[in-house]
Amino acid sequence: MVPSFPADAARPDLRSLRFPELSALVSRLGERPYRARQLYSWLHHRGAASLDDMTDLPRAFRERLAAETRLTTLAIDAVQESSDGTRKYRMRTWDGKLIESVYMPDEAGPRSFDPEADEEEPSTRIRRTLCVSTQVGCAMGCGFCMTATMGLVRNLTAGEICDQIYRVNADLRGLGVPGERPLTNLVYMGMGEPLHNYENVMRSLELLLSEDGANFSHRHITVSTSGLVPNIVRFGEESQVKLAVSLNATTDEQRARLMPVDRKWNIAALIDAVRMFPSRQGRRVTFEYVLLRDVNDSDEDAARLAALLRDLPVKVNLIPYNENPGLAFGDPGAERVAAFRKALDARGITAMVRKNRGRDIAAACGQLAIQA
Ligand code: SAH
Ligand code: SF4
Repeated sequence: MVPSFPADAARPDLRSLRFPELSALVSRLGERPYRARQLYSWLHHRGAASLDDMTDLPRAFRERLAAETRLTTLAIDAVQESSDGTRKYRMRTWDGKLIESVYMPDEAGPRSFDPEADEEEPSTRIRRTLCVSTQVGCAMGCGFCMTATMGLVRNLTAGEICDQIYRVNADLRGLGVPGERPLTNLVYMGMGEPLHNYENVMRSLELLLSEDGANFSHRHITVSTSGLVPNIVRFGEESQVKLAVSLNATTDEQRARLMPVDRKWNIAALIDAVRMFPSRQGRRVTFEYVLLRDVNDSDEDAARLAALLRDLPVKVNLIPYNENPGLAFGDPGAERVAAFRKALDARGITAMVRKNRGRDIAAACGQLAIQA
């Protein structure tokens, strides 16, 4: 049995390596170059859980890899299924940390839960989306979000971000969901602030987009941020995937109270960064707006929101608040949500209301947290 969780954290983390880095490692170990392709394919195309699975690699090579590198595969610790088909996976990292990933099937019908809804795409395409975590906990401290109560425990590695997808694909295949890679879409909207773990997130995207790996299309991946302005600018230049920005308020006074990040980068700076965002076809930025009862859900808020976004080629995703124990915010209710949307519409701003998937198992937006 080749061990998968060696104690020595200094050894290179195999699933986090880009192909050229993996090639260099393979040649340092004295193996033929084509072994790097095989290994990369096992890690990212087939999503192998352990070196033991890589049956066409010579045993001696696998033993060298086991001795000199690490393969930090996630272990599925628990799965909860919602009445709406959403599945929440709790996964354990090699060092015993717990994270969550949420699977949302959408075989047909409305797709309002997902900001990726793409006008150019036929509405009949089957979409199976995974919401992935990028950190254990989060440092951003948003007052309405359950993940914030954990604080930041640590960043996930690129390999750990990718592995959430590979573990869920394997689970779904086991359930009989068709396809070699059942997941079609990814949203970086689970635990953590993706742009606060910039390097690892960028690396994970590169791995997931690679043709020899999971081969996702950049049109089917969305990264959501609470508004780290300098990294939004960098992200626009360095990545092709889509961006969602959590605005959640229409004045700095209001936003700073909800989201401490606003004290560093205010709404004007955020809107400027979005205005500069390179908008290639199909890459319109989405603004997320969590509707909090009696906090930011009035018609005046809608009017201010419309004014802020005037002239910007953006979409708006309204997220009715998912209530959390101990956090004093409420869901405005369907009527207020509809009225808010209508008030935006009347001012020429198209907004979608995100479906509250998985509320019954605390898998909806802002409900992910693991008590220490
Ligand atoms: N950290 C990133 C991505 C994860 S949060 C970000 O903040 O954008 C994903 C979305 O859920 C964000 O738009 C956030 O504002 C929203 N959210 C957080 N808590 C929520 C809750 N309790 N109910 C509804 N949406 C929530
Ligand atoms: Fe972090 Fe996003 Fe939650 Fe804010 S909303 S605490 S940025 S996960």
